[in-house]
Amino acid sequence: MKFLYFLLLTLLPVIGMSQEISFANNLYNVYEGYREPALNCRRINHGNILPLIKKLRHNSKFVVHKLGESVEKRELFLIKLGTGKTKIFLWSQMHGDEATATMALFDLFNFFSANDFLNEIREKILRETTLYFLPMVNPDGAEVFQRRNILEIDLNRDANRLVSPEADILMNTFDSLNADFGFNLHDQNTRYSVGRNYKQATISFLAPAFNNKKEMNEKRERAVKLIGMMAGVLQQFIPGHIAKYSDDYEPRAFGDTFQKKGTSTILIESGGWKDDDEKQFIRKINFIGMLTAFLSIAGKTYLEIPVDNYESIPMNDNHLFDLLLKNITVEKKGVNFPLDIAININEQKLDSEKKFKTLGTIEDIGDLSGFHGIEEMDCTGLTLMDGKVYPKKIETNNELAAIDFQKLTEEMILFLPIEKELINPNRQTGSQRKAPICYVETTDFHFHLKIGERPAFYLFKNDIPKYVVLDGSVIRLKR
Ligand SMILES: [Zn+2]
Repeated sequence: MKFLYFLLLTLLPVIGMSQEISFANNLYNVYEGYREPALNCRRINHGNILPLIKKLRHNSKFVVHKLGESVEKRELFLIKLGTGKTKIFLWSQMHGDEATATMALFDLFNFFSANDFLNEIREKILRETTLYFLPMVNPDGAEVFQRRNILEIDLNRDANRLVSPEADILMNTFDSLNADFGFNLHDQNTRYSVGRNYKQATISFLAPAFNNKKEMNEKRERAVKLIGMMAGVLQQFIPGHIAKYSDDYEPRAFGDTFQKKGTSTILIESGGWKDDDEKQFIRKINFIGMLTAFLSIAGKTYLEIPVDNYESIPMNDNHLFDLLLKNITVEKKGVNFPLDIAININEQKLDSEKKFKTLGTIEDIGDLSGFHGIEEMDCTGLTLMDGKVYPKKIETNNELAAIDFQKLTEEMILFLPIEKELINPNRQTGSQRKAPICYVETTDFHFHLKIGERPAFYLFKNDIPKYVVLDGSVIRLKR
């Protein structure tokens, strides 16, 4: 009986959105057909989307309108679609390095251009709603893959003063549309977890507050219900990976300001998903989430969703590292200490804006039992050992070419002193190569197990080298 009651409780919200669920499942299965192939990594820029927008100008379904230009004179466009009474406004990438939703918007355009078995739903959405898209609000930031615009302004703190032309364009467009719904599309730190269940927060939602008291009104409640619907539908694809963003009121932010002005505003933050560094799966989840929301708005089905569905979404939490090595034995002055070591991986730009390398940093050491790793390894029985430093500094390209990296690893040499000019900045870091090698400046180099250091050490089991830890990778050694 108790079981039946539980079953009813979990099914009830689902009954109201059966059409959305089957639509989402269809989209999940046929997504590849809509995926815009010209966009295939996070480091996209204005030059990548411009030809796609130009193409839409020749498609009678779309109306493309130039809104203005960024500081560096890149054009911002509004793309309009549909004829319905309910207006929906979506804008993406006001932070230049948050591109996931921008990719998904171009997938949406392909969906609406298509002619297939989903025509009935496609036509329903376009009959009941009018969709307005402003992709890549911050093209100058996107050009150098940075959060802020080229004046170093965080556009999402410029909704009041409107100093930057991009923020001004976004506000003017919003005011001219007076939309019923707004979708504020961002990316968040990939290390956010869903509450304390330690799963990565792949999608975090928020119906932003419109005042310090975080009060509810009819407009905000519509956003809350719509999020409850989206979370209910998406959880079948990313179970346990949906969280809620903090709703502290920030009057300089656009989402909060738009909510205050009476548009039901929904924040979607794309976070992390294991082995999806370029966020192509999360892009697909964005695509499905947005289309399902459009369908629900068109049919007003979200109104049946209880507010509790939103309230029960866990908050974003901050207890994840990229790599957590548990219980490593570290020897100091003849005494063994069991330590957990937490490592995060950060991207470092190379000479071309589209290229980057990843470097690890030791973030914490000690008892980290309250924390989790996106990758975790139980190192019980493994002892940390320093790698050796190659005894001679490499000073010419010929000397470098003569190095047998495989042999260095066999000899437990982990650090190669090298003349700085010889290091090709575009060369991949050691952990991405076949043989793990870390370049250093002098033959005097000593590795220190310290917070802030780049992790590079061996792990031994019973006096035999078993693994090399370099940056965020654990490399198993062959015998
Ligand atoms: Zn953002």
